[in-house]
Amino acid sequence: MDEQLLQIARSELLGADRLLVTSHIRPDGDAIGSLLGLGLSLQAAGKDVQMVSADGVPSIFRHLAGSELVSTRPEGHFDLIIVVDCSDLERAGNALNGFSTPDLNVDHHPTNLNFARLNLVETEAVATAEMLAGYLPTFGLPITRPVADALLYGMITDTLGFRTHNMTPRALRIAANLMEAGSDLPNLYHLALLKRTFEAARYWGAGLSALQREGRLAWTSLTLADRRAVGYPGRDDADLNNILSTVEEVDVVVVFVEQGNGHIKVSWRSLPGFDVSQVALRFGGGGHVAAAGAELEGSLEEVQAKVLPATRALLNRN
Ligand code: AMP
Ligand code: MN
Ligand code: MN
Repeated sequence: MDEQLLQIARSELLGADRLLVTSHIRPDGDAIGSLLGLGLSLQAAGKDVQMVSADGVPSIFRHLAGSELVSTRPEGHFDLIIVVDCSDLERAGNALNGFSTPDLNVDHHPTNLNFARLNLVETEAVATAEMLAGYLPTFGLPITRPVADALLYGMITDTLGFRTHNMTPRALRIAANLMEAGSDLPNLYHLALLKRTFEAARYWGAGLSALQREGRLAWTSLTLADRRAVGYPGRDDADLNNILSTVEEVDVVVVFVEQGNGHIKVSWRSLPGFDVSQVALRFGGGGHVAAAGAELEGSLEEVQAKVLPATRALLNRN
């Protein structure tokens, strides 16, 4: 990252008294980990910080210290507005409605639109949390135990436990620094990736039994009826996509999740050689080479009729 840009970010952060930190809607572990990591560190440095997540903090992340301080709407005025792990303003949801252009954008998505006044975007970073863990010492901000836990949790979730193809030695060194700051890696790993609710396991069952394959493409859907039948509370795929992407015969997996508002959430996962972010972008979404998402209007059948041919085309190109 450009040293000069980091120094500008440092002086703006240290010069501000009232700061707003927010992240993306339907937050994942990196969104919440980065939000808490930066927010709690600024608080520990004596700043007045509001941490906002338009969709709140999903219950699976509430073990993270400080998650109880996150609100769904900002109140008052701010000297500095920071958005973390978010590729575009639309994905910040209504958290920033009525506010001016964000001051600082810290993110690792290649599809980032550089929407802020200062844009710290590192596409080689495995998680926004990794970037922040690297920046905090440069900014003169403390990495307390809750900050380290939040950031390590963000790194674990975005890398599925340090096993995605974008892993780097730098990411492991930063994770080691966070362990030295007091984080319990095995415990965070268990909470992030291994522990499931009974309802989530049954919800997987619905998706697994609907799994289809055509050549090296596999897909499935999770309907509102599936969700109701098992009592699964979320609107996500309960991580099913990451399970499906371990199937040996396939290179690309797509999961369609009925949202209940006339929209379908589409999630792609791919093996090296297939850039699913390009397909997601075409449908108004975004993401990474190997993991991307989009939300489309229409019924399950309508959305599948658009998305599956476009995804097949990606596979046929290779
Ligand atoms: P998901 O399939 O929801 O786990 O998302 C995979 C990746 O794509 C994540 O890095 C998300 O940040 C990104 N992503 C998911 N949905 C969208 C969207 N609607 N717009 C832009 N990026 C998205
Ligand atoms: Mn994220
Ligand atoms: Mn991320």
